[in-house]
Amino acid sequence: MPLHIVTEANRCLQCKNAKCQQGCPVHTPIPEIIKLFKENKLMEAGEILFRNNPLSVICSEVCNHAKQCAGNCIRGIKDSPVHFSSIENYISDMYLDRMHASVPLKRIDKHVAVIGAGPAGITVAVLLAMEGYHVTIFEWHSKIGGVMQYGIPEFRLPKSILDRYEARLEEFGIQIRLNATIGSTLIIDNLIRDGYDCVFIGTGAERPRSLGIKGESLGNVHFAMNYLANPKAHHLGNRVAVIGVGNAAMDVARTALRNGTKEVTMYAMGKEIAASSSEVAYAKLDGAEIETGMQVQEITEQGPVFKRTKYGENDEIIGTEDELIQTYADSTIIAISQIPRAKLVRTTSGLLAGDNGLLIVDENYMTTKRGVFAAGDVVTGAKTVVHAVDGAKKAAEAMKKYMNGEL
Ligand SMILES: Cc1cc2nc3c(=O)[nH]c(=O)nc-3n(C[C@H](O)[C@H](O)[C@H](O)COP(=O)(O)OP(=O)(O)OC[C@H]3O[C@@H](n4cnc5c(N)ncnc54)[C@H](O)[C@@H]3O)c2cc1C
Ligand code: SF4
Repeated sequence: MPLHIVTEANRCLQCKNAKCQQGCPVHTPIPEIIKLFKENKLMEAGEILFRNNPLSVICSEVCNHAKQCAGNCIRGIKDSPVHFSSIENYISDMYLDRMHASVPLKRIDKHVAVIGAGPAGITVAVLLAMEGYHVTIFEWHSKIGGVMQYGIPEFRLPKSILDRYEARLEEFGIQIRLNATIGSTLIIDNLIRDGYDCVFIGTGAERPRSLGIKGESLGNVHFAMNYLANPKAHHLGNRVAVIGVGNAAMDVARTALRNGTKEVTMYAMGKEIAASSSEVAYAKLDGAEIETGMQVQEITEQGPVFKRTKYGENDEIIGTEDELIQTYADSTIIAISQIPRAKLVRTTSGLLAGDNGLLIVDENYMTTKRGVFAAGDVVTGAKTVVHAVDGAKKAAEAMKKYMNGEL
């Protein structure tokens, strides 16, 4: 066992009013887990973690710990916080392989269709299948994972974790239909016709948001999600411009630099950087540069054209300078967030969405169609893995009530 996680566990004060736990969006019982870890009860700790958050091992890798568990740890006030994520990673990684995943002996005669195998869909599928419900997942892509598979780069999240998850899902008796899009040949009405008692939509927000400016369709311009889905298929050249400074932009920059690009500059409209401080630090370490106060006007084959931002007294953006600045890049990548493709699911089934394309749900995560629930990015807009898990857990509870006739 690596010494540093033992040292970290020994630093935990076992607070009664644990701020770390409160700072975690799924309220992981951190002191209890650390206590079990110190008693060498790793399987017990792993089971608690998995039941509370089936994606615990993934969250231990990709969550913004500096804002959540570690960021709220009491020891962080005077010293460095307890790095619980390393302890969680050790336990949950081991548990994922050693857990006893099997089809429950007592099955419940209710069938659930889950649309989308991202964090939200996987969470609902696991939580319901573990209790004996019959679950079938419909996934558009040829692999499970959603953005964890097709967005977050391999060097941050090894894809082999998702293969291990797929094996566990099958052991729980979950049927997975890959390359199966709901909203095309099959629509939600077909699922209900075929006897599914409840439907969950976890289709995420993977459609790149467009800048709406001239040049977006040029041959050397790409959207972040399209690039990240298959970086090796792109030949970006030596110099790359990235429009945007969020986490996706950092992933694009670091991926490009690992695939032969020599220089990457990311451009921000204002002074604020949307990405987490650790992602920015890593991108800079890898050699990426950030230019703030640059508003893109057009993209040419030579690279993006900007105007400099004008700021008011409180640094608010009040407009742009007149001068056009042509920058030079072999390729330009647009990384300004994503929106849902939910229209595909929605238009064929009469579900309502807001103007922003996000599905409308009530306090029980039920959409405007009875028996059809939704959570994750398709409801909240682009957020994080742990927020998708949190919504999906609540949706799964409501789905059980619905199938029991209590909702
Ligand atoms: C580049 C990038 C980096 C990120 N990095 C982090 C990070 O480090 N940490 C973090 O916590 N979060 C990160 N996020 C955000 C996080 O990945 C998402 O918030 C999370 O994946 C949302 O989960 P979801 O299940 O709602 O949707 P998704 O992950 O988008 O999954 C939706 C799934 O539904 C499938 N689908 C869509 N439509 C249909 C249909 N009609 N029929 C069948 N299947 C369908 C899709 O193929 C996909 O597999 C990142 C996002 C991006 C884009
Ligand atoms: S806040 Fe820090 S010290 Fe207190 S229980 Fe959580 S991890 Fe341990």
